[in-house]
Amino acid sequence: MKTKINIIKKLEKDKIFIDEAANVIKDGGLVVFPTETVYGLGANALDSEAVKKIFIAKGRPQDNPLIIHIADKDDLYKYGKNVSKIAKDLADKFWPGPMTLVVEKNNLIPDVTSANLSTIGIRMPSDEVAREFIKKSNVAIAAPSANISGRPSPTDVKRCIEDLDGRVDYILGCNESEVGVESTIVDVSVYPPCVLRPGGITLEMLKEVCQDIYMDKGIIGKDANIKPKAPGMKYTHYSPKARVRVVDGNLDKCVEKINEMVHNYIEKGLRVGVMATDETRNEYKEGLVLSLGTRNDVSTIAKSLFSTLREFDDKHVDIIISEAFMEEGLGVAIMNRLKKACGFDIVKII
Ligand code: AMP
Ligand code: MG
Repeated sequence: MKTKINIIKKLEKDKIFIDEAANVIKDGGLVVFPTETVYGLGANALDSEAVKKIFIAKGRPQDNPLIIHIADKDDLYKYGKNVSKIAKDLADKFWPGPMTLVVEKNNLIPDVTSANLSTIGIRMPSDEVAREFIKKSNVAIAAPSANISGRPSPTDVKRCIEDLDGRVDYILGCNESEVGVESTIVDVSVYPPCVLRPGGITLEMLKEVCQDIYMDKGIIGKDANIKPKAPGMKYTHYSPKARVRVVDGNLDKCVEKINEMVHNYIEKGLRVGVMATDETRNEYKEGLVLSLGTRNDVSTIAKSLFSTLREFDDKHVDIIISEAFMEEGLGVAIMNRLKKACGFDIVKII
């Protein structure tokens, strides 16, 4: 398949590309588009033939439901059923933005979109291009992240092209994704509501709307054996080609341990990458050191996490050793992605 690629540089001037992309959706095709979380791979959520193509293009397991994207808050009621007061309050507070609400679905949504579940994940993105594109398409857009299944999610158009050129009809590029990790998923089809995936909106923020909201035990991941509630969270994810290991504990001791591990791997003839932070990057003696950002503002870490994993792949390292982060606020989402990237291979320093 020949993929048409267009990058929006100035929204007013390049709106034509959004119209083109929306026409592809209307014709039942696949479009990669930017959002504030990560880039999405979209199709008409109500057209089961179009949605099937998403699963094929990504190599995504069919039992992993898709999130549908809307441009108008009221569409929560158009596609959802029995929407609770808490769902409404959360939407009012955090939409448009990086939060997905799981609600009972109505019969407009085909089974392939929801992977045969009776519920559906719905999100209204804040990204201007995303919203304009959904509006112009005049339908909800089913969209997982625009990567081959299992790989780190793409936060810039270059990575989408790498994975999906030739597999989709249209790639609509724009800026880098602001947040860098996927949306927070909250199941509001049950009470108390449950966070199925940590993301840009933290548990503390959600609790301002409903004190009883809690985090699914399967994702806080003290124990890799507790099964997560969201079907997709059980899959290996975010894996770069290199093996990933994470070192957790007192930061000074972690740096010491990582230096020792790097040295040992290099002695064995391996190419090693160190995923550091601005605070520690100069303390590593060997290996390819890349900083994720500053510990003083973990949003910088979230934003560059996936692109840094992919950058190590570009440099053909065999193993990536990463520092860990405090599991609070946005750190919960960062550690959730890191744990999955390393397959829970975490070295604990006591
Ligand atoms: P992605 O599309 O790659 O961002 O992944 C979407 C995530 O949302 C996966 O982990 C899905 O399992 C989860 N998800 C989507 N819809 C539902 C739903 N109705 N119930 C529970 N989890 C869902
Ligand atoms: Mg994904």
